[in-house]
Amino acid sequence: MKIRVDRDLCEANAVCTGIAPDLFEVDEDDVLHVLDASPPEAMRPQVERAVARCPRAALSIED
Ligand code: SF4
Repeated sequence: MKIRVDRDLCEANAVCTGIAPDLFEVDEDDVLHVLDASPPEAMRPQVERAVARCPRAALSIED
């Protein structure tokens, strides 16, 4: 599983960081960082929740 971020869509509103703080972080310059772009399968439910809740539809999963 790989997490993809469409940088043209992401507005760094940090919804995903609230859902999966081990995977996403927004820095002081309002830039989203994916802390682990290839997380273990056990984290898939969290990743799927972040994908579903991103208000900009900027996240996707590539298997
Ligand atoms: S929830 Fe979506 S728009 Fe918000 S920071 Fe995460 S990827 Fe970007």
